[in-house]
Amino acid sequence: MHKIAACPNCGGSKIYLNRTGVSGGGYAANYLPGLGRLFKYARLYPAVCEDCGLVRFFCDKEARSKLKNAPQWDKQ
Ligand SMILES: [Zn+2]
Repeated sequence: MHKIAACPNCGGSKIYLNRTGVSGGGYAANYLPGLGRLFKYARLYPAVCEDCGLVRFFCDKEARSKLKNAPQWDKQ
């Protein structure tokens, strides 16, 4: 995973990234529709600021590579 910038909420730099990631499936929502594989949702990697608790989510390179051709996502 890439380097994570300081917290946009408090400016803190003590950011912890969950290295295994979490994914939807079963009763959980699929937060990255169209970016996974057949029967496998794309994983989210939560990053938490120790100082204020802000949680940000990242997705891996494979999921990002599918954005351009996934109809569920509009480039802004
Ligand atoms: Zn923070």
